[in-house]
Amino acid sequence: MSVACSQCGEMFEESDIVTIKGLPVCATCKPFFLKKIQEGDTSVAGFVYKGFWARLIADWFDGFILGIIFQAINLFITVPTAKSTSDPFHFLSVFSVSFSLFFSINIAFYVFFNGRYGATPGKMLIKAKIVNTDGTPISYTKALGRFFAEILSAFTFGIGYIMAAFDSEKRALHDRICETRVIKK
Ligand SMILES: [Zn+2]
Repeated sequence: MSVACSQCGEMFEESDIVTIKGLPVCATCKPFFLKKIQEGDTSVAGFVYKGFWARLIADWFDGFILGIIFQAINLFITVPTAKSTSDPFHFLSVFSVSFSLFFSINIAFYVFFNGRYGATPGKMLIKAKIVNTDGTPISYTKALGRFFAEILSAFTFGIGYIMAAFDSEKRALHDRICETRVIKK
């Protein structure tokens, strides 16, 4: 399959084309294109990356939705059980069921929304979407992988998230691991 270079318009074999900022660029145009990007040339179309603060708002929004679900599980399952039993082992087993249920809902939430739309409700709110480095939509499998990679970002005391603030392509740790980018829709 041949691809048109976004800069000179010539057709090239896919293997002779590199993707930069989601745009196909041929080997001849590559150095000029990179120079334009370095110089901050705004005429260079391509990805507009979503930054740390917007993404933090998106994560808060998703956390709010999931928090409501978590509280509902506690209200309707965990707390009534705690009141009905004096056996701590029974309570612990119910608590672990509640927690597993919540964890499963979390996975389903991120895999469904990111796999189908490239964005959770929070990311939709900030008009962002997750894409592969070449700009194509991510698969359900990648959405699942990214869910677990994001746990790593959380377990590093949030440093994995903060990395996005200091990266030219606004990559969080989980974007680096999964080779994804969060861009303006
Ligand atoms: Zn070219």
